Amino acid sequence: MVAVSKTQGEAKLREALAAGQRVFGENRVQEAKAKWPALRADHPDIELRLIGPLQSNKAGEAVGLFDVIETVDRPKIARALGDEIRRQDRKVKLLIQVNTGAEPQKAGVLPDATDTFIAQCRDEFGLEIDGLMCIPPADEPPAPHFSLLRKIAERNNLNTLSMGMSGDYEIAAQLGATHVRVGTALFGARGAA
Ligand SMILES: *Cc1c(COP(=O)(O)O)cnc(C)c1O
Repeated sequence: MVAVSKTQGEAKLREALAAGQRVFGENRVQEAKAKWPALRADHPDIELRLIGPLQSNKAGEAVGLFDVIETVDRPKIARALGDEIRRQDRKVKLLIQVNTGAEPQKAGVLPDATDTFIAQCRDEFGLEIDGLMCIPPADEPPAPHFSLLRKIAERNNLNTLSMGMSGDYEIAAQLGATHVRVGTALFGARGAA
């Protein structure tokens, strides 16, 4: 389970750490930079995952901060991450975000374009891709989206599937999720201290 700690303050994070949680997801580079270095100094075994959109001018910071970046979704970002991973000599796992619902406002590669993008990441940018991530449309049953993500992963020999949130992580787990991203069900409403 990825504990989605965006907007949560240090007290909540320390509680989760005391309970043994070590895998956390943040959706903003700046917020993660403000919150995590001090906590990591106390807990070197933390795994930090970027689950929000990434701009290419933040690629360097993201590579320095995160162990896993789940939101690779376009060539410009893939190229920037490849350059930074080599420059900083960091091991960062990468997932490709797929826009399974083809929603115009949502980040992610379209399902039909995903095979080609995975190949491009490998062949052109020298990246090792670990798996796929999706956020299904809020107003649709999530199961078909989880199944589609799994199908795309299987035909590309990818083993990591990040799918499912507070409202649907059980369905996602049944459909093969290796990582569920749970925020409110774990921490309570965001913003509450
Ligand atoms: C906020 C967020 C979550 C967690 O959502 P909850 O409904 O609070 O569990 C999961 N994934 C992503 C990408 C998010 O931005």
